Amino acid sequence: MRILMVSSEVVPFAKAGGLGDMVGALAAELARQGHDVRVVLPRYYSVDPGRLRRLEAPLGVPMGYEEEWCGVATAKLPGTGVTVYFLDHQELFGRDGIYGTRSGPEFNDNLRRFTLLSRGALQLAKMLGWTPDVVHAHDWPAALVPVYLNTLERDGVFGATGSVLTIHNLAHQGIFPKQELGHTLLGWEHFHGAGLEHYDRVNLLQAGLRNADMLTTVSPTYAREIQTPELGERLDGLLRHRAADLVGVLNGIDYRLWDPADDPHLPAGFSADDLDGKAACKRALQQAMGLEAEAGTPLFAMVSRLVEQKGFGELCGPTHGSLYNICAELEVQFVILGTGEAWCEAELASLSSRLPNLAVDLEFNEPLSHLIMAGADFLLVPSVFEPCGLTQMYAMRYGTLPIVRRTGGLADTVTSYDEATGEGTGFAFDLLTPSSIYNTVGWALWTWHNRPEHVAAMQQRAMAERFSWEASAARYVEVYRGAVDRRAGRVTRTW
Ligand code: ADP
Repeated sequence: MRILMVSSEVVPFAKAGGLGDMVGALAAELARQGHDVRVVLPRYYSVDPGRLRRLEAPLGVPMGYEEEWCGVATAKLPGTGVTVYFLDHQELFGRDGIYGTRSGPEFNDNLRRFTLLSRGALQLAKMLGWTPDVVHAHDWPAALVPVYLNTLERDGVFGATGSVLTIHNLAHQGIFPKQELGHTLLGWEHFHGAGLEHYDRVNLLQAGLRNADMLTTVSPTYAREIQTPELGERLDGLLRHRAADLVGVLNGIDYRLWDPADDPHLPAGFSADDLDGKAACKRALQQAMGLEAEAGTPLFAMVSRLVEQKGFGELCGPTHGSLYNICAELEVQFVILGTGEAWCEAELASLSSRLPNLAVDLEFNEPLSHLIMAGADFLLVPSVFEPCGLTQMYAMRYGTLPIVRRTGGLADTVTSYDEATGEGTGFAFDLLTPSSIYNTVGWALWTWHNRPEHVAAMQQRAMAERFSWEASAARYVEVYRGAVDRRAGRVTRTW
C-alpha cells in the first residue's frame, strides 16, 4: 500500500515522548513488509539541515489568510528505505521546542504551525504526484488531515484515499479559540458541520475523530477505557458512537534500538543467558548518579515526563506523596530521569537534596535512559492513565522488573507477580494512592530479599517477552484496508 504518515514527532529526528518512537518504528516495519511508506514532519531547529537533501521547488500551502511557502528537504529513516519529508518554514518551525518551551508548554501559534503540517502534507503529495492509498495521522497536530480529506479535498486526487487517526493521548486535544478557525482555511460552515466545535472552541482532535475513516489507540485496554466518562476526556460519547471503527493496536518496541546485548550506550552488554553485564551497568548507573556503588541495594528507577498523568501527584505532590517515605524508610536507591512541569521538577529537586539515596536528573537524556533501563532492578510506572507506555517494555527487555498501575497499555503488557506460583513479569496495583505505591514498592522489595528465585525467574520471563512490531504493523495494514473500504462506501462508517 502507499501510506502517508503525518506526525509532529518521528524518532530519530524529533521526540518528546512515545509518539516519536511509535511513528519511526511503525514506518520502518511497514516498509520492511513491502509497503511504500512516506512520512511528513516539520523541520524543527534540532534537525540539522546539513544532513538533509533539499528539493528544488518550494511548496506552496494555501492557509487561511495567505499562502505560506516552505522549503522541503528529505532524509531516509535510518536503516530503511522510508523517505521522511521535512517542511521547512522559518517563522513557524525555526525555534527550539516541538509544542512549546519549558516556560510555556504551548506556543500561541500552534494552530497555524500544525495547520501548515497537515495541509502541507497533502499539498506535498500533490506536488510529488504521489497519491497515497491511506493517510495515517497521529494525534491532534495531524488531526486536520482527515478533516481536509472530508471537506476541501473530498473529491479530486484524494477521492479514494482512506484516513486513519491514531490517538496517542486523549488528554491532548489541540483546543483553540474559535476566532482562530480562519487559519485552517475551513469556513464557518465547517465549524459545526465538520465537528470542529467543542464547547464553543475549536477542538482539532475531536474533528479528526469525527472525520477519520478508522480510529486507533496504542493499546486495546486504552481503546475501551476512553469510551468511559472516567478516561474519555469529554469525548467518550463520540468514541462510543464510533466504537465499530475504533481499534486498539498495542505498540511494539524497536528491538534494533533497544537490545541489551548490543547497545552502544551501555558499558557492558548482557542477555538472559549471561546477566553479568547487568551488574556492571548497575555500577555505572550508581556512579553516574552519585549513589553508593552497592550491588546488594535494590535500585528503583523512573524515566518519565514529570506530569500528573505519570503519578507524580501521588509520588511527590506538594502536600503529600510517598516518594519521601519510600526513600526515607526503605533500604533502596531511587533514580529519576525526567523533564516536565515546574512544580514537579521543584519537588523532586527539593526531595533529592534531602534524601541521599534519591538521585534526580532533570533533563532529556537518551543515553542515560538506556543505562537506567539496564542498570536498575525495578522500574516504577504508577500512571493515572497510560495509552500504551513504552518504558515498562524497555525495562522488561533489559531484565528490569516493572511496577505498574493496572491501566491502559500497562495492563496489557505486564503480568503481576503471583506469590503462590512465582509467575509474572512485574508487580501491578489498581488503586492509585500514595500508600498503594508505597506498598507495592514494599512488596517488590520483600520479594527481592525473600524470594530471589522468583525474582530471577520473572526477570527471565520479562526478557523473553516479545513486543514486536511485526504483528502490530500487520494489524495496522488491516486497519488501513478498513479505512479504504469505508472511504469507498464498501463498509458504512459510523459517523
Ligand atoms: P509518553 O509518550 O506518555 O511520554 P511513553 O512511555 O509512551 O510515555 O514514552 C516515553 C518515551 O520517552 C520513552 O521512550 C522514554 O524512554 C522517553 N523519555 C521520557 N523522558 C525522558 C528523558 N528525560 N530522557 C530520555 N528519554 C525520556
